[in-house]
Amino acid sequence: MLDKFHEECGVVAIYGHPEASKLAYLSLYALQHRGQESAGISSSDGALISTHKAMGHVHDIFTNEVLKKLPGALAIGHTRYSTAGDTVERNAQPFSVHCNKGRIAVAHNGNITNAAELRAHLESRGSIFQASSDTEVILHLVAHSRERTMAGALRDALLQLDGAFSLVFLAEDRVIVARDPWGFRPLAMGQLEMSGGRPSYVFASETCAFDLLNAVYLNDVQPGEMVIVGPEGVTRERYAPEKPRAQCVFEHVYFSRPDSIVFGRSVQESREQMGKLLARQAPAPADIVVPVPDSGNAAALGYSEESGLPYRQALIRNHYVGRTFIEPSQAIRDFGVKLKLNPVRSLLEGRSVILVDDSIVRGTTSRKIVRMVRQAGAREVHMRISCPPTVSPCFYGVDTPNKSELIAANSTTEEIRRFIEADSLSYLSLDNLSRSVADDRGEYCYACYTGDYPTDFISIEQLVRAGKKAGC
Ligand code: AMP
Repeated sequence: MLDKFHEECGVVAIYGHPEASKLAYLSLYALQHRGQESAGISSSDGALISTHKAMGHVHDIFTNEVLKKLPGALAIGHTRYSTAGDTVERNAQPFSVHCNKGRIAVAHNGNITNAAELRAHLESRGSIFQASSDTEVILHLVAHSRERTMAGALRDALLQLDGAFSLVFLAEDRVIVARDPWGFRPLAMGQLEMSGGRPSYVFASETCAFDLLNAVYLNDVQPGEMVIVGPEGVTRERYAPEKPRAQCVFEHVYFSRPDSIVFGRSVQESREQMGKLLARQAPAPADIVVPVPDSGNAAALGYSEESGLPYRQALIRNHYVGRTFIEPSQAIRDFGVKLKLNPVRSLLEGRSVILVDDSIVRGTTSRKIVRMVRQAGAREVHMRISCPPTVSPCFYGVDTPNKSELIAANSTTEEIRRFIEADSLSYLSLDNLSRSVADDRGEYCYACYTGDYPTDFISIEQLVRAGKKAGC
């Protein structure tokens, strides 16, 4: 069964640089926060496409030896996180095939909401799939297309897709990138310093990758736009009619790095604004403002500035916690959170604390952190969340659990406050969230906070997951 509901990913593409795979590697390093389960790079020397992908973090996978086997001036890369069921190497990207249109590799960020239907149709016509990821569907659509050119076949394929996709393709002598017509997931275009007089281009999920490469951010690939970079230069074309924009607001709330420009706006600026508006909307009698690092840092800064209360880093994060660790056989209470966070008692003792985090999903993390802060001597703990209650799963590329596991889908704010054992709890309102990202024209998707999905097509399987499991 195609079970590809949550897939958080980062993508990159490099055109026209002699060390393309090295630059793709560095970009993936900068995009590691978008997925830590597997990573891969495909490169092309103009004729042959080479791919290396594996489970794990970027720095573990790509050694000098590996990168030497990825030659050429063109490359695409991918870093992926997905849920347990799909934790297998065959789902790692890029996917690469040799089909009737030539050699092609693809990497994808987002979720194709009609992938199950497309796959069933393709299988009935003889396609054989190797992985359960919906990205493979795109390659089969390209192979089946009657169009003769790669760009034509891609256009044909993209027009059959529903849902969220920011895609990077590598053909033998060109890089092609595209965004879905709603613009759910980001994809930015940059220019690298000239190499031998010819411009080199880079595309990435977030602009923090450009900074590392000394690339200049030019603009975003537009929703419904396809950009082809080949020997003839850059061609930009609208492959699909315009749809109402639905840029993922969660990129600004949590997912993207604060040093990135996403959808043309600074993520840091959005988060500080969320904190400021939260301070106006939900003040509390407190002594200090404490972020839950790193997700609450920028919003806490905004809250502190607006409220005039001092910002104190009273929770210290251990940045070196790996994926596996040895746990004592005698269970230590809340071991997982303690491994990651430790309170600074001297800052917390006897104080009334405003604790700022970006979101509450299941509620279990917040509960442990509130407990930790109280045990370190805080007199009162007031929890402030820089987005509205998360009430609906995402079908467009963010990892959210079933509705039944989303605490805010099944409890009132007062019930959640009691569960996390806080003295008070407030969420940023939807209006204030929209203000924080300067969404004057209604161009963002807020489905995880409203249940209002911008695309028509949500498969029965998905609706079951969104609704029935929660008993509604
Ligand atoms: P929970 O215990 O489920 O309430 O977890 C809440 C924490 O998970 C918050 O500190 C968030 O920063 C973080 N978080 C929220 N959404 C996601 C996501 N899609 N992927 C990973 N972490 C997340």
